[in-house]
Amino acid sequence: MRLSQYFLPTLKETPSDAQIVSHRLMLRAGMIRQMSAGIYAWLPLGYRVLKKIENIVRAEQDRFGAIEMLMPTIQSADLWRESGRYDAYGPEMLRIKDRHEREMLFGPTNEEMITDIFKREAKSYRELPKILYHIQWKFRDEVRPRFGVMRGREFLMKDAYSFDIDEAGARRSYQKMFAAYLSTFARLGLKAIPVRADTGPIGGDLSHEFHILADTGESQLYVDPKLFEVDMKALGPDDDLAGFMERITSLYAAADELHDPAKAPKELVTRRGIEVGHIFYFGTKYSAPLGAQVVGPDGTPVLIEMGSYGVGVSRLAAGIIEASHDEAGIIWPDEVAPFKVGLINLKSGDAKTDTACNDLYAKLNNAGVETLYDDRDERAGGKFANMDLIGLPWQMIIGPKGVEKGVVELKRRATGERHELSVDDALATIA
Ligand code: ATP
Ligand code: MG
Ligand code: MG
Ligand code: MG
Repeated sequence: MRLSQYFLPTLKETPSDAQIVSHRLMLRAGMIRQMSAGIYAWLPLGYRVLKKIENIVRAEQDRFGAIEMLMPTIQSADLWRESGRYDAYGPEMLRIKDRHEREMLFGPTNEEMITDIFKREAKSYRELPKILYHIQWKFRDEVRPRFGVMRGREFLMKDAYSFDIDEAGARRSYQKMFAAYLSTFARLGLKAIPVRADTGPIGGDLSHEFHILADTGESQLYVDPKLFEVDMKALGPDDDLAGFMERITSLYAAADELHDPAKAPKELVTRRGIEVGHIFYFGTKYSAPLGAQVVGPDGTPVLIEMGSYGVGVSRLAAGIIEASHDEAGIIWPDEVAPFKVGLINLKSGDAKTDTACNDLYAKLNNAGVETLYDDRDERAGGKFANMDLIGLPWQMIIGPKGVEKGVVELKRRATGERHELSVDDALATIA
């Protein structure tokens, strides 16, 4: 992508209304713009990041056997009356009426809807277990939308739902999602801590939240420091997931209200955390009122055992920035970077430099390297600052002097290391 033809409205000044660094940087880097309180447009650069995060979340769901589908954002109030949550959910739910005065709502979550879909189709225990998920916009009319997309009103969530014949099966589904989540966050370049959690309005008796550590986090975490040492990734669906979860959850980790000093170890670390995921086992909480049952092995009907599993996809974009930035701007982990390389032309308009840049840009494109080429007629200083701000993992810098010597300068954004290399060596380094 040539920057001269892109839509990247970066800001030099720090927006005064943004309180946390990720919000400031997302605005400054031209990733998002606020449309109403807690409602954001994702500009092209931000949207590329959102898609990358979404794809990693999707890949790990698929790897652990969950099946993707898509449910609508608008739901019928009647379904929520059946579960009893229409009134219980309160003012966080955006309620709407259609032209026939039918009561509708913009879904804050999908337990009722998926239970309704599943119960109509599933007849026998032989169709279980199943985990279904979708990645869809949610709306919650938060009292205090703030921190940009960290706590928006409209936000993108991956929500999965498991269906099992008995509690033992439901616990296996839970263990799968537990492992899938740790693997997802590791692939996103994040260290996520699973903490025991309250089941809240969704109900049930087994629940964990996944938090990433950041001083701006809204939750207070109490964690056994041994948990920081555990290797939480590289597990597959066929590994001993029960043992894995047991090893991790035997180490103390709790958030806010669930913290019990009497049960905590002496050596305890307190940190602020951002909730990026939350998983629940809730048994028959929805299958019972909605009548979701299948015929069991002995021919009698059995209520389906369920769980739900959420990841805040749009919140993660902000969370990753909280975890990875410096004074100059964002530092994208390779896996979610909007482009891999920023190519900087130090003297646009200079025939030789333009030719060298165009050649390198073509080579990068041919090699399938996602490149943002700053071909604008701007001063070098401004281009450097802009590239550091948007945080692409690599920068390739070409000016008249380098062209004479037949070299490009390669900079790693995370470390600031710079090397002069031949074009071929530079390409080989980033490949
Ligand atoms: P919070 O405690 O931050 O209000 P929650 O516990 O209400 O979140 P869940 O119902 O557990 O949220 O939803 C699953 C995930 O969706 C959360 O872990 C979080 O990552 C994300 N999420 C929830 N509310 C928002 C929001 N307002 N903006 C962005 N992401 C959100
Ligand atoms: Mg909430
Ligand atoms: Mg919460
Ligand atoms: Mg939660």
